[in-house]
Amino acid sequence: MTEGKKSRVQVVTGDITEMAVDAIVNAANSGLMGGGGVDGAIHRRGGPDIIKACKEIRNNDYPDGLPAGKAVITTGGRLAARYVIHTVGPVWKGGKAGEEETLGNAYKSSLELAAVRGLQSVAFPAISTGVYGYPKDKAAVNAYSTVRSFLAQHDLPAVVYFVFFTTGDADAFMKAVSGLHGAGELQACR
Ligand code: ADP
Repeated sequence: MTEGKKSRVQVVTGDITEMAVDAIVNAANSGLMGGGGVDGAIHRRGGPDIIKACKEIRNNDYPDGLPAGKAVITTGGRLAARYVIHTVGPVWKGGKAGEEETLGNAYKSSLELAAVRGLQSVAFPAISTGVYGYPKDKAAVNAYSTVRSFLAQHDLPAVVYFVFFTTGDADAFMKAVSGLHGAGELQACR
């Protein structure tokens, strides 16, 4: 890495709802009506405009719900972030139900939306690693590899943040991806 040059991938410890970026990603469920975990936190903090936009998307585009691996974008409401990208990760069923591909698609679809909208900065939570039960180390490798290969082919988003609630989760992520190509450029901030 060139001295002083900011890496395009950053690891952050903190609450994703506080990130002042172009878009934060929501680990939504397919109903898009809010829920627990990071989803609940985003809706609580972002206010009613987000749920209103989600309802319109359900009515107009996804009456049966947003399928796992796909992503949609709404206003960020009262959040510091301008937009929320809602994506649905897979529920972990042991690893033989296409979970890996679906998780990769959730990251990729979110990044594609960000690129199309011309967004510079996007923050991801650790999709599927809460109530959806995806093993954190496997999810880390998947998320990091998917983001890195997307960034290699696209100028936007310019920066991607991986946001973890706890330092333990951030450290575990760094450890899980440490052997992967480009991991030496990863910057951690807390
Ligand atoms: P999923 O249903 O996709 O598993 P969860 O919201 O249950 O989603 O959890 C995803 C990850 O987000 C978990 O690792 C959890 O620790 C983390 N998380 C929950 N709330 C926040 C938050 N406010 N900021 C950042 N990460 C969060």
